[in-house]
Amino acid sequence: NQDEDKLTEYMDELEFLAFTAGATVQKRFTQKLTQPDSKTFIGSGKAQEIKEYVKENEIGTIIFDDELSPSQLKNLEREIEVKILDRTNLILDIFAQRAQTSYARTQVELAQYQYLLPRLTRMWTHLERQKGGIGMRGPGETEIETDRRIIRDRISLLKDKLKTIDRQMATQRNNRGKVVRAALVGYTNVGKSTLMNALSKSEVFAENKLFATLDTTVRKVVIGNLPFLLTDTVGFIRKLPTQLVESFKSTLDEVREADLLIHVVDISHESFEDQVESVNQTLMEINAHQKPMIMVFNKIDDFSYDKKDDDDLTPSTKKNVSLEEWKKTWMAKSKYPTVFISALTKENFPEMKKMIYDEVMKIHISRFPYND
Ligand code: GDP
Repeated sequence: NQDEDKLTEYMDELEFLAFTAGATVQKRFTQKLTQPDSKTFIGSGKAQEIKEYVKENEIGTIIFDDELSPSQLKNLEREIEVKILDRTNLILDIFAQRAQTSYARTQVELAQYQYLLPRLTRMWTHLERQKGGIGMRGPGETEIETDRRIIRDRISLLKDKLKTIDRQMATQRNNRGKVVRAALVGYTNVGKSTLMNALSKSEVFAENKLFATLDTTVRKVVIGNLPFLLTDTVGFIRKLPTQLVESFKSTLDEVREADLLIHVVDISHESFEDQVESVNQTLMEINAHQKPMIMVFNKIDDFSYDKKDDDDLTPSTKKNVSLEEWKKTWMAKSKYPTVFISALTKENFPEMKKMIYDEVMKIHISRFPYND
């Protein structure tokens, strides 16, 4: 059943996100509804089932794969009596943990406040409950208003700060002159940093968690005497919180202003086609979809769906499909130069380098037409 495969993939990803944030997942709950309950997102029977499980197993947090509205969050917390995170909240938390530079930290803080602002009443309601549910008006309202004002002030301060840094970064980009700029794009955890390390011979943090890369790293790369700049960007992910899309503008500017995109795909991932789709969607949103692009299918050393036969998470439709068969699918018809590599074992690196060289050279020649 395809729907169920999708669902499992989504839940796998959510579990991986939770793991990245430092949580261990005990149990998954799913529910099929024609549309989410406007008040509690899930049905009341399901909420009850979760509540019982939470009580029995002393669960500390419930995580939802979708973004809940402020009132859904409030209602659910009241009903299940446990801390509730939604996908947005979880991703914000991971970004907060991983922000290295002051720029990334400012971006995350801004996104967090933007997420928090419409949810302030929720915290107040909790306080109120603790106080024994005294009247809805009076000092409470004033307090929320004060908090809101403080947060709004903070938000505009952070926005100003980001604007200043954005300008500095734009200047820096301009100062890079006419050197061709390539940007690594791709879903999170596909191997962008590993590839960056392999190409630039310098160490970039790479690990098997989501969003190891929060800040953009720019390195000079030379292939066959042809120098160019290579940027490693934040990994894209399905349903990236809108607060983050906006606040990571500068990171995405690196992509927008690149001359060439190197789209890295983790072909060992069961849902790599969805990931490609998701990345293309984001590229479209930031208006970067018409740039020259190279498709790099990575992790061929790990490619083997039948290897995972015992793993019931593998969509059955993709079992026993060899890499050669895959290559004959839509990939063969791709309008972009396409190469299959392993960033780990460096298999097919010469072919990839030649491809990058050719593309960079094309851009270089169009830029300096009168050089020999
Ligand atoms: P990024 O999030 O796209 O920058 O991905 P990373 O470079 O951090 O890599 C994510 C994980 O995939 C790390 O554990 C890497 O060691 C692993 N990885 C990267 N390239 C390959 C590859 O070609 N083959 C295999 N098997 N693993 C890889």
